Amino acid sequence: MNAAPHQARKRFGQNFLTDHGVIDAIVRAIAPRAGENMVEIGPGLAAMTQPLVERLGRLTVVELDRDLAARLRQHAQLTVVEADVLKVDFAQFGESLRIVGNLPYNISSPILFHLLPYADRVIDQHFMLQKEVVLRMAAQPGGGDYGRLSVMLQWRYDVEWLFDVSPEAFDPPPRVTSAIVRMTPLRSPAALDVAMLEELVQVAFSQRRKLLRHSLGRWLEARAFGGTFDLQRRAEEVPVQEYLALAQNLKAAPTV
Ligand code: SAM
Repeated sequence: MNAAPHQARKRFGQNFLTDHGVIDAIVRAIAPRAGENMVEIGPGLAAMTQPLVERLGRLTVVELDRDLAARLRQHAQLTVVEADVLKVDFAQFGESLRIVGNLPYNISSPILFHLLPYADRVIDQHFMLQKEVVLRMAAQPGGGDYGRLSVMLQWRYDVEWLFDVSPEAFDPPPRVTSAIVRMTPLRSPAALDVAMLEELVQVAFSQRRKLLRHSLGRWLEARAFGGTFDLQRRAEEVPVQEYLALAQNLKAAPTV
């Protein structure tokens, strides 16, 4: 692909992968196969794009930076969507989607939430993110990493930390350590009202050092919740399954 220099744009979260060992390890983890329906978010200078498309034959990429999108269009095997990924309707890409990307870290959580409604058409997602975010996504109850991101994503995906990537693997290097995460949509996720789950999880973790009766307790009371839920715990002690069960119970409960 075109090798003319490109000035990295901070506002687009541009840290380009340059370490070939790391790129190989990511591509091996993704294990692309010819003909698969893959979308890459933020291809940048094509560090991952090139080895991916060599194996796939065709690849769709979503890139916001106009200059980078223009370069990518020179590659006949790429379908280039020049757009803000947060505004892209992933339904247009069809079914059996595999989504990959070294994501712009400044909007990584919004991207994860944007993709959530499309999970039923997705086979898997492999992303490079700040390590700290990956730890929160994959966290189990009982620790400081466990929170809203863990519950909302683990409701819908199996979340797996794969490996860390140090800042030296990029140009320019980011200030933080990164990690690769694999997200595989669950086949039978708990059927619930996502907005309800989101609200209750947000309320529960709003005062994470206090017992839940101070936050969630009041919220449940206002909804005349008649079921049982142990509020003598902190939000980080409650397993994902219990939040899901509570959201399901609330679905039928009257709202104030
Ligand atoms: N994939 C390349 C690599 O690994 O070297 C670049 C990764 S860089 C961390 C993030 C990429 O996402 C950049 O190419 C940037 O222009 C692009 N980007 C930033 N914000 C975006 C957005 N809202 N929608 C789509 N792409 C975006």
